[in-house]
Amino acid sequence: MALAGKLSLEGCNIVVTGGARGIGLDIARSAREAGAHVVIADIDASLGESAAKEIGGSTIALDVTDPASVRDVVTRLAREHGRLHGWVNNAGIVRNAPAEDTPDEDWRSVMAVNLDGTFWCCREAGRHMLAQGGGVIVNIASMSGLVSNRPQCQAAYNTSKAGVIMLTKSLAGEWAGRGIRVNSVSPGYTATPLLEQVRAQKPDWAAVWQSETPMARPAEPSEIAAVVVFLLSDASSYMTGSNVVVDGGYTVW
Ligand code: NAP
Repeated sequence: MALAGKLSLEGCNIVVTGGARGIGLDIARSAREAGAHVVIADIDASLGESAAKEIGGSTIALDVTDPASVRDVVTRLAREHGRLHGWVNNAGIVRNAPAEDTPDEDWRSVMAVNLDGTFWCCREAGRHMLAQGGGVIVNIASMSGLVSNRPQCQAAYNTSKAGVIMLTKSLAGEWAGRGIRVNSVSPGYTATPLLEQVRAQKPDWAAVWQSETPMARPAEPSEIAAVVVFLLSDASSYMTGSNVVVDGGYTVW
């Protein structure tokens, strides 16, 4: 098949967690442009609704921290749509604090969304994909899973994302022989509400981020989404367990 055909997601059902805004919304939009039917699964149901309307997809309320809710959502989507071709674990949060001042609840909530939530979704989507005979999972990790970036202190976030990268490799090894590919994408600084929220609180950090990024700018969400669509598609059919870094060169220094 020609490359354009391999990159197509025509006829595929793709679920994007945290797809109501930011990188997730661009992943949803790009997957839709590649021909997929996209389901935005977000904790904010009304934002999910307007995002789904904007891109021409559908939405479902999902809190990735609740394994029972994840199970129910996968069961419902499987009933409504049948085959789940792809699942993107994008929902994520960040809390910044020096390690010695990190409150218990900040550590727990970051782990609950970023790492536990990714596992609950991989497990439930994976069970369904194993039963249907294959599928593709893409986990959104971070360059912070590879390097401890400066100047902000975010031990919980960095640790959670390192966990996502290793979870991806572990599942890829377990499921490769049964038709499921699992890869992660590690973005650098990306211009989203999450980044803007941090920038508004700490304006001096942005200058450091820029000076430490060889390309001297944040990514546009669409620059992350393009790589995710590639990983969801048959164009990446020999890739599993990979962590694709999309960081404007941040991790080369
Ligand atoms: P964002 O703009 O904050 O969007 C994240 C989305 O996830 C929001 O719609 C949020 O809903 C939703 N969400 C949060 N908790 C959830 C939960 N428990 N269940 C379901 N949905 C939930 O974030 P972003 O910047 O696009 O980041 C997307 C992913 O990329 C995250 O995994 C992040 O760690 C990663 N990443 C981002 C950057 C960056 O610079 N932006 C860099 C590297 C990696 P609410 O708005 O209601 O909370």
